[in-house]
Amino acid sequence: MAIIRFKALESSQNRTIPTVKTPEGKVSEYYGNRTFNEEVMKSLLSPEAFQKISQAIQTGSKIDRDAADEVAAALKSWAIGKGATHYTHWFQPLTGATAEKHDAFFDIDPSNGKAIEKFKGSALVQQEPDASSFPNGGIRNTFEARGYTAWDPSSPAFIMENAGGTHTLCIPSVFVSYTGEALDYKTPLLKALHLVDKAATAIMKEYFDRNVTKVIATLGAEQEYFIVDKALFNARPDLSMAGRTVFGHIPAKGQQLEDHYFGSIPNRVNAFMVDFEFEAMKLGIPVRTRHNEVAPGQFEVAPTFEEVNLAVDHNALLMDLMSKVAEKHDLKVLFHEKPFAGVNGSGKHNNWSLSTDNGVNILGPSSKPKENFRFITFLVNVVKAVHDNADLLRASIATAGNEHRLGANEAPPAIVSVFLGSELTRALEELEQHSEISLEKGDNVYLKLGINKIPSILLDNTDRNRTSPFAFTGNKFEFRAVGSSANCASAMIIINTIMANQLNQFKLDVDARLANGEKKELAIVEVLKGYISSSKKILFEGNGYSDEWVAEAAKRGLSNMKSAPEALSVYVRKETLDLFERNNIFNHREMEARYEIELENYIKKIQIEARVIGDLAINQVIAASLKYQSKLASNVKTLLDIGMKKKSVESTMTIIENISDYCSEIQDMVEKMIEARKKANNVEDTVKRAKMYSEDVKGYFDKIRYFVDKLEFIVDDELWPLVKYRELLNIK
Ligand code: ADP
Ligand code: MG
Repeated sequence: MAIIRFKALESSQNRTIPTVKTPEGKVSEYYGNRTFNEEVMKSLLSPEAFQKISQAIQTGSKIDRDAADEVAAALKSWAIGKGATHYTHWFQPLTGATAEKHDAFFDIDPSNGKAIEKFKGSALVQQEPDASSFPNGGIRNTFEARGYTAWDPSSPAFIMENAGGTHTLCIPSVFVSYTGEALDYKTPLLKALHLVDKAATAIMKEYFDRNVTKVIATLGAEQEYFIVDKALFNARPDLSMAGRTVFGHIPAKGQQLEDHYFGSIPNRVNAFMVDFEFEAMKLGIPVRTRHNEVAPGQFEVAPTFEEVNLAVDHNALLMDLMSKVAEKHDLKVLFHEKPFAGVNGSGKHNNWSLSTDNGVNILGPSSKPKENFRFITFLVNVVKAVHDNADLLRASIATAGNEHRLGANEAPPAIVSVFLGSELTRALEELEQHSEISLEKGDNVYLKLGINKIPSILLDNTDRNRTSPFAFTGNKFEFRAVGSSANCASAMIIINTIMANQLNQFKLDVDARLANGEKKELAIVEVLKGYISSSKKILFEGNGYSDEWVAEAAKRGLSNMKSAPEALSVYVRKETLDLFERNNIFNHREMEARYEIELENYIKKIQIEARVIGDLAINQVIAASLKYQSKLASNVKTLLDIGMKKKSVESTMTIIENISDYCSEIQDMVEKMIEARKKANNVEDTVKRAKMYSEDVKGYFDKIRYFVDKLEFIVDDELWPLVKYRELLNIK
């Protein structure tokens, strides 16, 4: 029996690159041609219906039955004209993946028994998927299965091509329980975005620019991923079941292959990229850059930023699309945060900013003093929001996968801090120390305030700090600690909520001073000075990967929550529950349910990994090692039989002994791990069970791996069953 590893290697080496079908026409002609976008709606809807839907998109207003029916009719004929046979509400449950339930446009006309294409406004607006298997944290009685999905008109419907060339109309939707609680990411995200719009608009309008009527949060999500050959992927049960390799000796070259970074893209990967980029463009996803990442086999795709809700949908859709297109190329995309030990993991940098409806990037510095004053005001508020809610931000990125990556000297630490760059840091210091000012008539207020000294063009824009979890990068913040497999909404709900909450507080603080007759600019500066003093400990410009920072952060009293369960517990702190309830994002029940779901997700992941580790260690690693050992034993016996001296077999005997030792260590620890798992499974309480999985069960992973990786080094390559790192990472 040939070892599956060698069959897989052979397949992987004999690949032909499939021809990539170039779409017809120029990009501008096919970009978004599979989306039911504004232009299409305008051309297909009556002016009244178009007006209603535009308003719904702009303000979140409800759409009446007649308009919904009209949109549904237009959507149906448009989709059928593009080859769609089915439609689905497309939503993002808390499993982390996207979900669909396909229905046919087909129905039977009861009056004459003939086939008709049916799709009513009611089907567009609301669906009741049999969703009993989606996580709900106890909110929805699972046997009732009464979650429903509801259309989100602010994200355009699109047509997805499935394997085999069939087409489905996908309708972006929220997913809520029968009693109205959110069971997905989109529902709270939309609320948070509305909240930050209201809060930021009020400040812009009253303090900076009367013409602003809306503030839009923006997101550009840089997505890192690994590419491996499909056959090699399938030959690694750990990769296919847990998304990461639980064993594997780090290759001699591995990470040192720094020349991979911005090096030329391997041919197979390049064809794959071109292919999924075309598909993405047709779906209106503005993908822009592609390049190699630091690790071998690792790449990145970055879209142009968009309004957050749209960008979140687009990122989720892009991940789906990439996985689908990869199939055609006999490739697998890995979105796991840490698929390979000893090799850099993957993140999803969430670039975030706020922008007004008259096109101003609120976090963009300016050469005009007044605009720069606005910039500094919002910047300081971001710093304060992050300072006051650092633990919540940490919670928003806590998953089993990201636990491997944060603080592993390759990704930001689990300590949340903010990087501003030296010029801005200095500017804030000066502002903080600014003495009380009195304005005389005719004074230039900005000159007096020293705002003119704040650099409008940031010279250190390029002095990027790649080790900071939350970095200002010229005209936006980049939340770099987000995991590559995450739904961006998880972080975006938190960022926009804490920012809105902070801005509301800011307005109260400033208005209180205005009521005392202070001049507006002076009132703002005084409030900002207080914020800088109370939140500057979150600012850090140094190396976030260093041990010194861990010590320094502890001295500053910043949290360093290493485990995901610990970080997630922040979700049910009293302050958190109050924050969300006060701002009408989550009620207590929803937040507690979310905490429960996240813990369950965590437990499930660790449980799967533990099973895979146990199975592979016993069935494959020990089995292969013993085979090799008996080969060595018969070799020793033969040598002794033909009269060789004992000394000549000594080194082989050592290897034989080592194999025995390592195998029995592995055996022993696998048994203990299984015991720990059983014990954990018997614990009813999710919080306790998660802790047991995190500490007791997971505690064996590295210990078992240590001996397995030693065996990989010893055992004859010909007998080793698991595809090796150098083989997995060496994509051509
Ligand atoms: P880099 O690649 O050096 O980090 P880029 O300027 O290429 O920087 O931007 C990276 C990501 O940030 C892109 O997805 C880009 O669209 C996004 N981005 C740029 N400006 C904004 C903004 N105002 N709001 C949100 N995202 C933004
Ligand atoms: Mg970046």
